[in-house]
Amino acid sequence: MTHVFPRHSRARMPIAVRGEGAYIFDADGKQYLDGSGGAAVSCLGHSDPDVIAAIKQQADRIPFAHTGFFSSEPAERLADRLIAHAPGTLDRVYLVSGGSEAVEAALKLARQYFLERGEPQRTRFIARRQSYHGNTLGALATGGNEWRRAPFAPMLIETSHISPCYEYRGRAADETQEAYGLRVADELETELQRIGPDNVIAFVAEPVVGATAGAVPAVPGYFKRVREICDRHGILLILDEVMCGMGRTGTLFACEQDGITPDIVTVAKGLGAGYQPIGAMLCTAEIYDAIAQGSGFFQHGHTYIGHPIACAAADAVVQKLTEGGLTERSARMGAVLDEALRDAFGQHPNVGDIRGRGMFRGLELVADRETKTPFAPEQAVHKAVKAAAFEAGLICYPMGGTIDGQTGDHVLLAPPFILTEAQIGELVDKLDTAFRAALP
Ligand code: PMP
Repeated sequence: MTHVFPRHSRARMPIAVRGEGAYIFDADGKQYLDGSGGAAVSCLGHSDPDVIAAIKQQADRIPFAHTGFFSSEPAERLADRLIAHAPGTLDRVYLVSGGSEAVEAALKLARQYFLERGEPQRTRFIARRQSYHGNTLGALATGGNEWRRAPFAPMLIETSHISPCYEYRGRAADETQEAYGLRVADELETELQRIGPDNVIAFVAEPVVGATAGAVPAVPGYFKRVREICDRHGILLILDEVMCGMGRTGTLFACEQDGITPDIVTVAKGLGAGYQPIGAMLCTAEIYDAIAQGSGFFQHGHTYIGHPIACAAADAVVQKLTEGGLTERSARMGAVLDEALRDAFGQHPNVGDIRGRGMFRGLELVADRETKTPFAPEQAVHKAVKAAAFEAGLICYPMGGTIDGQTGDHVLLAPPFILTEAQIGELVDKLDTAFRAALP
């Protein structure tokens, strides 16, 4: 065990030995309520019998057949199921093994699409400052997180970063929500004019920003304007739903609530629900056909793409999210969670904002609620909250860092959709305990 890289620190971590519903148990028998589904992964909880049965069944039949030679029954079923529920014209699926891989595939697919169309000068991407798209070099390039990018900056593809749609800090006091959405979306137009729209491949964004911001949805109208701008200049819109997709926000795809269809969308995390590592990229037939009728194949691939056991698990997950009613449950219980958070922390002097959709909620922690002044970075408030919550038996996902140019702290909650009202009460009580112990 001592040879496993620790994830975040040199401190020894407890060993997780068992999961049951919304709880994880460590080797000492301590019970933790999984208030963030890991990092928005475990949408079904930890012991779903149907997903486990699907994994066992596929392992017994054929665990692996290389995609250079074969497709598999679960891969075909999963692709059909995703397409049946995907918005608009997203009807081609590429299966990978995680979120960064899905984003990486999307970036390369978009580049290859323009190559096939004889537009090799398009090499640039535009993304947003408040975003995380993964840790591989391409995905890292599009993410807006400066401290993650800095050590690798010379090795990254050229990406410009514009403002996120971040109402809490971005909207002026005398500005309507709609005017704010359009103003911030129009930064895309300004940036396109600055660098030349013909040099740009795509705009990349999370519909609801997760890890870097704590469940920040765009205001109504923002993504419609973004879509218009992309169409006007013939650039692609790539939406990264690795964290916010798969029912997390109360609809299977988060962008359904923004009323738009991207050209490419990425999903992962909740797709495998933690039972298997898997991700997917969906794109339009237009993009796929340009490649199929051009050079004939997508210049990409990994050994484990479309892994049969991972696909069998994901197929069972998506079936539960759609036919099993769990996406609706995310919407319903998400509203209960929102109300419980507002009751408990709506007047808390250090909680500046409570936001999100479905079972994807964020609280922004501030030193002063009136002025929205963040805590000083050296106070590392998010780390203290994380440790205090863990001590109290709650897994939540506090993050700090630069929030659209300002340093700040937030707590991300992304519990399993199966959470009961009593467990929502337990989550809020434990978070309250953590705040009492950790906030200055
Ligand atoms: N995109 C988003 C929006 C994410 O939140 C993440 C993971 N936090 C990724 C991509 C990368 O996914 P993975 O860690 O599975 O590579």
